[in-house]
Amino acid sequence: MEFEAVIGLEIHAELLTASKIFCGCATTFGAPPNTQVCEVCLGMPGSLPVLNKKALEFALKMALATDCRVNPESVFARKNYFYPDLPKGYQISQYELPLAEHGHLDIKVNGAARRIGITRIHMEEDAGKLIHSESRPVSFVDFNRTGVPLIEIVSEPEMRTPEEAVEYFKGLRNILLYLEICDGNMEEGSVRCDANISLRPVGQTEFGTKAELKNMNSFRFVKAALEYEIKRQRALLAAGREIVQETRLWDTAANQTVSMRGKEEAHDYRYFPDPDLVPIRIDPEWLETLRKNLPKLPEAVRISFHTDYGLPEYDAEVLSSNKTLAHHFLGTATKFPNIHPKQLSNWIMDDPISISTITPEISGNLLTLVEKGTISRNQAKEVLKEVVATGKNPEVIIKAKGLAQISDTGALETAAQEIIQAHPKEAADFRAGKTKLMGFFVGQLMKQTKGQANPQLANEIFQRLLGQ
Ligand SMILES: [Zn+2]
Repeated sequence: MEFEAVIGLEIHAELLTASKIFCGCATTFGAPPNTQVCEVCLGMPGSLPVLNKKALEFALKMALATDCRVNPESVFARKNYFYPDLPKGYQISQYELPLAEHGHLDIKVNGAARRIGITRIHMEEDAGKLIHSESRPVSFVDFNRTGVPLIEIVSEPEMRTPEEAVEYFKGLRNILLYLEICDGNMEEGSVRCDANISLRPVGQTEFGTKAELKNMNSFRFVKAALEYEIKRQRALLAAGREIVQETRLWDTAANQTVSMRGKEEAHDYRYFPDPDLVPIRIDPEWLETLRKNLPKLPEAVRISFHTDYGLPEYDAEVLSSNKTLAHHFLGTATKFPNIHPKQLSNWIMDDPISISTITPEISGNLLTLVEKGTISRNQAKEVLKEVVATGKNPEVIIKAKGLAQISDTGALETAAQEIIQAHPKEAADFRAGKTKLMGFFVGQLMKQTKGQANPQLANEIFQRLLGQ
C-alpha cells in the first residue's frame, strides 16, 4: 500500500522586544541566571500582568505579513500544567480567540509552487529553563526566559514531504527576520519548531493517528526527524500495527525519534480566559498604519531583483531568501550605481559568509576598483577574506600586499618591448598571422610583473607594438 505523509508545523518565535510580555524585565539572552526576574514573571501572589504593546505590535506585523485575518477581539487564556520551569502553574497563552487566523505562505519545492495555510497566530509567554547539574543529581531553574514574548504560528496539515516542511519553516523564519521582530537565532532557541505527522493511504481523506515531534531547532533536524518518522510509521502500518498518538523527541545522537510521553489533549490543559488580563481590541486605524508601514517582504524583494535589477530568477531567489544578503545587495546597488547588478550578485553569492559580515561600502569600493582595473576580481576576493579576518581597511590591505595592478602604460610598454626583442621568432610568427601567440606575450609580461600587469592593457600594448 502506498502512503502519503500529512505534516503540520507549530513554530514558536521569540519576539525581539526589550522587555517581557507582561512585565518590565529585560529579555537579554545569556544573562546570569535569575537576574532578569520580578514578582510578575515569577508568579508571586497578587502580582498582575500588563500587556507589552510592542509585543502586540510585533505579533500583528507577522499576522499581516502572512495575510492572516486579525481578530477584532482576542483573549488571553491560562494553559494549566505543572512543570518546575513554570512558576505560576499555568502559561498565559491564547486559545479560543487567538490574535489572527486564516493566513498562508507560498513555498516552492523543486520549482513547484504550493500555498500552505496558516491556521492561526497567537501570543503567549515563554517558560523558564532547567539546567541539569553535571556533577550532582540536581537541577536548577533559570527564570530569565519566563515571560519572554512568543508567537506561535500554527500551519494547516497541508505539507506532504519533509522538504516542503523545511521550505515552509525557512520561509516563515525569513519573514520574521525581514520584519525585524525576531533575531531568528535557532541555536539560542529564538525560533523552534514542533511537527505533527501522520500517514494515510494515498487517496484517503481522513487523517491517520499522528505523532508530535517536539522542539526541533534546526532545519536539518526537522528534515531528518520527519524522514525518520515517515519510515517508522510506514513500517508499523505495513505490518498491520497501530500508531500510538504520542509526543516524540528527536535524539540527535542516535538519529531517531524517541517516545517522550503520551500526547495530551487540549482539554487536559483546562484552558480558561485569564481574569487578570482584559481582552485585546485592535484599533483598526493602528492596524492600517502597521499594514502600510510593513517593509518589503522576501517575495516582493525577489520580484524586484528580477524585474528592476535584471537578475536571473535563480539569483533573485537566493539573494531574497536571506535578509542580510538582500540588504547588502540593495545597499550596494543604491550607493554604487556604476556596478553591474549581475557582477554584484555574483560577488555576493561567491562568498555569502564573508559578505554578511561587511558593509555595502566595502563591497562597493572593492568592486569599483575591479571595474577600474586597479585590482583583479580574484584579488578583490583575497582582499575580502583579509578584511573579514583582520577588520582592516581594504585600501591598507591592497597597499600592504602590493596587489594593485600595474596600469601605467609607459612602464608596461618598456617591459613589453624588451620581451618582443628577447623573442624575435615568436614576434615574427605573430606578425605572420599566428595570433594565438598573444597569450604567450601577455604571459611573459605577467611573469615579469609578478602577475600585477593589467591584462587588458597588456593585450592592447602588444597588439600595438606587434603591429596588428
Ligand atoms: Zn518580570
